Amino acid sequence: MRDHPKGVVSKCDLCSKRVKGGQEPACVEPCPTDARIYGDWDDPLGKLMQACKDRDSTQLRPELGTDPSVRYLR
Ligand code: SF4
Repeated sequence: MRDHPKGVVSKCDLCSKRVKGGQEPACVEPCPTDARIYGDWDDPLGKLMQACKDRDSTQLRPELGTDPSVRYLR
């Protein structure tokens, strides 16, 4: 069930309800190749930080200063 009226535009909230319930985001969980990784930037031993530790990552439009938490790995 959607949380907003039909026709209202929404954006990704990283599946906050799923995550609060202990699940991974809906677009992360089914991916067989782990193309998307979800995790806690503050957990140095978590899979997100482990995936990023030896690889360069970038943010989209860093010049805007919004510091998005989504990063793209090379
Ligand atoms: S499925 Fe993926 S893109 Fe859609 S709200 Fe969840 S995390 Fe965001």
